[in-house]
Amino acid sequence: MTSYTLKQAADLLHAKKISAVELANEYLAAIEAKNPALNGYITLNKELTLAEAQAADARIATGNAGALTGVPVAFKDIFCQTGWKSACSSKMLDNFVSPYTATVVQNLLNEGMVTLGRTNMDEFAMGSTNETSFYGATKNPWNPEHVPGGSSGGSAAVVAARLAPAALGSDTGGSIRQPASHCGITGIKPTYGVVSRFGMVAYASSFDQAGPMAQTAEDCALLLNAMASFDERDSTSLERAKEDYTRDLNQPLKGIKIGLPKEYFGSHNSADVQTALQQVIVLLKQQGAEMVDVTLPQTELSIPAYYVLTSAEASTNLSRYDGVRYGHRAAQFGDLEEMYSNTRAEGFGSEVKRRIMIGTYVLSHGYYDAYYLKAQKLRRLVANDFQTALQGCDLILGPAAPTAAPKLGSNIQDPVQMYLSDIYTIAVNLAGLPAMSLPAGFSSDGLPVGVQLIGNYFSEAKLLNVAHQVQQNSDWHLKAPE
Ligand code: GLN
Repeated sequence: MTSYTLKQAADLLHAKKISAVELANEYLAAIEAKNPALNGYITLNKELTLAEAQAADARIATGNAGALTGVPVAFKDIFCQTGWKSACSSKMLDNFVSPYTATVVQNLLNEGMVTLGRTNMDEFAMGSTNETSFYGATKNPWNPEHVPGGSSGGSAAVVAARLAPAALGSDTGGSIRQPASHCGITGIKPTYGVVSRFGMVAYASSFDQAGPMAQTAEDCALLLNAMASFDERDSTSLERAKEDYTRDLNQPLKGIKIGLPKEYFGSHNSADVQTALQQVIVLLKQQGAEMVDVTLPQTELSIPAYYVLTSAEASTNLSRYDGVRYGHRAAQFGDLEEMYSNTRAEGFGSEVKRRIMIGTYVLSHGYYDAYYLKAQKLRRLVANDFQTALQGCDLILGPAAPTAAPKLGSNIQDPVQMYLSDIYTIAVNLAGLPAMSLPAGFSSDGLPVGVQLIGNYFSEAKLLNVAHQVQQNSDWHLKAPE
């Protein structure tokens, strides 16, 4: 029933074939039936959802509707939203109902979009499998024994399970692209600064970007149109002319050069991932695209650089959760010092604590030069690699992850193994580039496999068009789990 793309839902609303309230009710019924097993949504509020839907219908009735008025959407629990519990899937914020709304969410609400609920994620967006959530793991809708990916695994799972036409995620080192790949949907991380970070709980501020997750590239373009804006409350928000991210959809691919980095096609990848890549290469060539060899020599070093820098930023950002102003406070303590330490010991999960400790260590006086400063230099080299590679091509194609979704429990005990699985996504965030992932087939055991496209700064419209052309000539993105 609820298998609409965002575009289809918008068209039905415009044609008055369905009302926003009817649409919201269809989704709420499907969520009630399927979410308990999936655990993709962690907070639902029927009254708030229906109130937003009624307001959308009133707006449609007066002829004031925007492109997305009345279309339902789900928000990752990382976005603050007035009136909704905004917990970032942490015990630390389990009692936090936000008094303000993130700019990207507000932009969608201003369009008249309707909040279906808040989606599960790794605690404070730290993780690659959605297993570090205080609210328990999300299941992969294609096979509940597997993870949906992370950290935006709840958003990916609800879109794949057709419990929302679209969702917002956030991507610090791959958290939109990797779960999209593992769940068979499309997602894009914009150029750093294109969407506002105001009201999005900070993990690593110089990496974090919000982005759309949906069935199709076209839907992602429509959402990005509504999300992107200059925001004076985010000092890294870019002041640029408004873009229409759908403008290049339907541009022919003839003559476009796609770079294939040799570091992305090696023995790290499973056979399923190699097959998916080859299928997309064939499709692109049929449409006149040309494949060129490129190289990204710092690929392996991007993992230590990323985990040093993001942990450093996380240790600073998460110092605000001290039990004083908001969030969890320990019930038992002797003095102030013990209040801080009991609060943080109880409120944070072990992955978050690991990052805070790594971050504090690499920023400490004796190790700053050896780790933090070194990692900053590597960050520059990684960004330079992309600029060199992009001189020889328009876009880069590679995997989103080395394998299809792993089994629940298989990676969580081994943090280094988990960090290594981010090899294809994190360099993009070190460089601040836009990148997306799109469905490209299925593994031998029926799990979705995605591929990743990476572009130069502000090439979102071009990326979305290449993905759109693949989707016009394939049906992987239309497949849904049973
Ligand atoms: N897996 C990466 C990490 O744990 C990426 C997370 C993200 O993009 N939020 O840091």
